[in-house]
Amino acid sequence: MGYSLPSLDVPEISAAKVWNASWTRAEVEGFPEVSENEVVRHFVRLSQKNYAIDLGFYPLGSCTMKYNPKINEEIARRERFANLHPFWPERYQQHALSLQYDVQNLLKLLTGLPGFTLQPSAGAHGEYVGIKIMQAYHQKKGHKKTKVLIPESAHGTNPATCAMLGYDIVSIPSNDTGIVHLEEVERLLDDEVAGIMITNPNTLGLFEENIHLIADKIHEKDGLVYMDGANFNAILGITRPADLGVDIMHINLHKTFSTPHGGGGPGAGAVGVRGDLLSFLPTPTVQKTDTGFGWNNEMPESIGRVGGYFGNFSIHVRALAYLLSIGSSPDGKSAPYFRKMSEAAVLNANYLKARLKGYYHIPHDRACMHECLITDQNQSLDGIKTLDIAKRLMDYGYHPMTVYFPLVVSGAMLIEPTESETKENLDDFCDAMIAIANECKSLPDIVRTAPHCTFRRRVDELRAQKQPRLRWSKNLS
Ligand SMILES: *Cc1c(COP(=O)(O)O)cnc(C)c1O
Repeated sequence: MGYSLPSLDVPEISAAKVWNASWTRAEVEGFPEVSENEVVRHFVRLSQKNYAIDLGFYPLGSCTMKYNPKINEEIARRERFANLHPFWPERYQQHALSLQYDVQNLLKLLTGLPGFTLQPSAGAHGEYVGIKIMQAYHQKKGHKKTKVLIPESAHGTNPATCAMLGYDIVSIPSNDTGIVHLEEVERLLDDEVAGIMITNPNTLGLFEENIHLIADKIHEKDGLVYMDGANFNAILGITRPADLGVDIMHINLHKTFSTPHGGGGPGAGAVGVRGDLLSFLPTPTVQKTDTGFGWNNEMPESIGRVGGYFGNFSIHVRALAYLLSIGSSPDGKSAPYFRKMSEAAVLNANYLKARLKGYYHIPHDRACMHECLITDQNQSLDGIKTLDIAKRLMDYGYHPMTVYFPLVVSGAMLIEPTESETKENLDDFCDAMIAIANECKSLPDIVRTAPHCTFRRRVDELRAQKQPRLRWSKNLS
């Protein structure tokens, strides 16, 4: 027994009543019998083998790995949130319902969209909900729409979502400045187009400056504009998606509004819609009445329930804590400091870009938004690839940046500093990147065989995919 369990606080019953002995394994080969002290040491040692946002910079582009204030965690763990039971009568859930209501109000303020749902569990889930709403809109109007336009630089979840909902995907090429080709949108647009899914800023870190023109074209055909809001961190308080012509969007609360999200979930993909789409939102929605807050299930046109109970409620708690800590007013009327936050995120990315220029190829050399894109074009002349550079970065003590995404740029390295890194940190990171660029000339073999200072050397990624060994074995070196 490696851990002292707390004393029982519910009536004791015999295990035989609820547990079938055949479910218990008699023996697990090599299963260690250890003391609490040894368990603690084991897990602390394991944790030290991991890289973490609390250890250093996480330059993962598209992921918005910002600092997640610790107070968010403390608040989300408070008993009144963590132990809330979804079957409690509404009158005992008032604090939770009003919290969701406040989050929605602040999202409305920042996006200009009049209604939100917090039910979806991730960005990709939000896309599914948003495109389902698009579908419901066209069905109601009796439209026969079979296609969705998606820029070729889009995140893979965009075409996957549309395919899941039975749409044909029409890929739109980027122009030579890295944004959606307006003339191509015009050329590909016809009566069968249900809408467009557009990411702004896009996955190359560039602002889609024609988005309002694109929206006008789509609206002329009674199509809808869906914005993938994963990159919302760049434009908060500067512009509102609704003003750009966006009809539906998702926001990755775990990215923009700070929840630790390395290694998967849980997340929350809030979805906002324009006025005439409100009736399609998933049920139940949170509403405010004269007597307090409550669930509204009376929405005949709704696409239905898409998640359990409150959705991933603890993420909403963190989002509200963060929204308020950035200086939003709880009544949802003002959020003046988000602009500063986004400007700092954008400035940081442009600073990185300026310092790395001259060492790394920059495919679209113009002002970027919250992330900057470089490639391995210069280094490939010495036979060194993006993967080698990313691995070498680990020797310098950094988590690698996002590599080989977006797919449309060969050897892409996407770097997103976020607003929470200091100039000193950015300089150290750039020094490491520049040192690696120099090593590609002077010590190419060191880079090609990196990493050298980590717990594991370079793994055979192909074999890991084709012959995954998921069971621990003593013989595994
Ligand atoms: C992260 C991301 C998504 C998917 O969001 P999840 O929360 O991971 O499901 C979609 N699009 C873009 C551009 C993203 O960066």
